[in-house]
Amino acid sequence: MENLTENIIGDQPYQNTILCVACMKENNGAVTFCRFCNAALSLTDNPDHLQKIAMEGAVYSKAVKVKPNIVVLVGVWLLFFPILIVSLPSAISVMFEGGGGMPSFVIFWILIIITIFSGAMLHKVTRNYYNARKAN
Ligand SMILES: [Zn+2]
Repeated sequence: MENLTENIIGDQPYQNTILCVACMKENNGAVTFCRFCNAALSLTDNPDHLQKIAMEGAVYSKAVKVKPNIVVLVGVWLLFFPILIVSLPSAISVMFEGGGGMPSFVIFWILIIITIFSGAMLHKVTRNYYNARKAN
């Protein structure tokens, strides 16, 4: 029992570590920004609500733009891949069977834009994810 108490006290610094959501490395709980990648930490400890929201936004945008983790990668694929596999055949179908005229022309280009956007989003996040893995 004495040993157990001693171990808990001895391990105290490690219990205060925060896992960085951007790079998945452990930081000491006292720091506000990740010492590996500079992402904002301490989301639950900060009493300032506005600052908390700003930090969450910074973590989210960092995860999407610079180092997306596996959760972001899977989320983006679940969201955009179904859109991509529906919008591209729809665009082709409208092009050949839309009967011509202004309405099908507009629908065709809207579908093409959705297809390009979804494809670019998937490409960008997937590329960033694998680049981040390689860099680590
Ligand atoms: Zn980090």
